[in-house]
Amino acid sequence: MKILVLNAGSSSLKYQLFNMETSEVLAKGNCERIGAGGTVTHKRPNSDNYFEEIELADHGKALERVLYLLCSEEYGVISDIKEIDAVGHRVAHGGEQLKESSLITESVVKYLETIIPINPLHGPPAIAGIKACLALMPSLPQVAVFDTSFYSDIEDFRYVYPIPYEFYENDKVRRYGFHGTSHRYVSAELAKILGKPIEQLKIVTCHLGNGSSITAVDGGKAIDTSMGFTPQEGIAMGTRSGSIDPTVVTYLMKTKGYTPEQMEDILNKKSGLLGVSGISNDCRNIYEAAKNGDNRAELAMKILVNGIKKHIGSYVAEMNGLDALVFTAGIGENQWNIREAVCENMEYLGIEIDKERNKNFTRGIPFDITKEGAKVATWIIPTDEEYMIAIDTQRLASQN
Ligand code: ADP
Repeated sequence: MKILVLNAGSSSLKYQLFNMETSEVLAKGNCERIGAGGTVTHKRPNSDNYFEEIELADHGKALERVLYLLCSEEYGVISDIKEIDAVGHRVAHGGEQLKESSLITESVVKYLETIIPINPLHGPPAIAGIKACLALMPSLPQVAVFDTSFYSDIEDFRYVYPIPYEFYENDKVRRYGFHGTSHRYVSAELAKILGKPIEQLKIVTCHLGNGSSITAVDGGKAIDTSMGFTPQEGIAMGTRSGSIDPTVVTYLMKTKGYTPEQMEDILNKKSGLLGVSGISNDCRNIYEAAKNGDNRAELAMKILVNGIKKHIGSYVAEMNGLDALVFTAGIGENQWNIREAVCENMEYLGIEIDKERNKNFTRGIPFDITKEGAKVATWIIPTDEEYMIAIDTQRLASQN
């Protein structure tokens, strides 16, 4: 079975074509600057990357170009679109109703349109990607895989915010959680690697990238997570503040006269590691600057590490135990220094890592960094959200 996975952003369309029999990626790439020019980077294993500048007026035109490249004689990996058996879409938000990966029907698209107000950035491009596929490949099964659905079993006392209840009931203001596909993938991978049924494991998964979230996975189900109504909540991120006293927001708006849009821009794009360090949102640059004695870079690192530690600790308390800790995504998979700092002084919780293994880890594969004899297994697991989407798509398309 061949599955095309699509991830539509506001001006981008990422794609990967999987051969599910071999779990191989046949081709992948990214269309960027959609609606404002257009570029495509197209990659195939063991071939040079192909790059082009081409007018991409909308997501439909971008998808047309992707399908052309996938089938083209020179750059293609299939000879006809008909070889694609199903399409899987990454959809950030499934709202309260779409609790599981779903075959796309008219009513699914309609519901996604109704929740655009709570998902204004990611909703419209995801819907555009879905509609483009329905127009170009109407008879193909299409599946939506939601970042939020891993959290659909979270209990109400963990997702209802302690504000007047009507804001939950009427306005759907609640914790939704994000990055669920990544947390679901790495926790399942870890259980496989440990050779234990996931139902018996208590795991904390740390997805640390430009956007970061931490999830408590108890018995294979997410029971709590750091991101909330939006991906803004939780630990400090590349440019996002994470959780802060909400009064800071109203105070700054009142005293500086910021509009809601300006305030959102500050909290989303000018805060986090960038805001504190004044140097960069990239953890590598912050680490270098901190090593060279930059105090604010050092402070930014400490805030990041402390936020991660606090979440791990609180999730151990919520789960009443911990069997395994997982690091994933850009920082989690690559920055040994952050992993070391997070795991420092955590013996009380059973977390102890082998510092040499952690520093000399092998990139791109699951890697055990547990210290011998430690109670908690600590692993680096490279995430693969696209593959997880492909697996769900295969399952649902086969039942169709
Ligand atoms: P996004 O949330 O945008 O998907 P990523 O998962 O790519 O972000 O993570 C970006 C972060 O990961 C950056 O802070 C960067 O410093 C770090 N990172 C990514 N790749 C590497 C690498 N090879 N070595 C060290 N750090 C890396």
